[in-house]
Amino acid sequence: MKIKGIEHIGIAVNSLAEDAPFWKHILGLDHSGTETVESEKVSTDIYNTGKGKIELLEAMNEDSTIAKYIEKRGQGIHHICFEVEDIHETIAELKEKNITVIYDKPKVGAEGFLVTFIHPKSTGGVLVELAQRQS
Ligand code: ZN
Repeated sequence: MKIKGIEHIGIAVNSLAEDAPFWKHILGLDHSGTETVESEKVSTDIYNTGKGKIELLEAMNEDSTIAKYIEKRGQGIHHICFEVEDIHETIAELKEKNITVIYDKPKVGAEGFLVTFIHPKSTGGVLVELAQRQS
């Protein structure tokens, strides 16, 4: 597999309205967009740092994985996302190595990336997202 770098760090927040101003106004990061990702039941606010992005994640409802995460562990870093060259090839390679991949078939995530996740039990406790840019 070919990792191209850290695409973003996902941060679970209670409220974009309350928590985004720190990233936007105190750090002065460039806000590149807000969107809802229906498949994950989240609203995201995305900021460019210049090298990698920050993705703030707010649950759209209580069934969202973000709502469940905050309930268990509180607000904070939720996942790290690596950009990969070929997500299908990466998934096949991980499965061959008995790594637990959450979506065998990638879903469309924020900004139109094809994404899947590696279960934290396979990574030493970190939820890892893999994303392929669609051209
Ligand atoms: Zn993400």
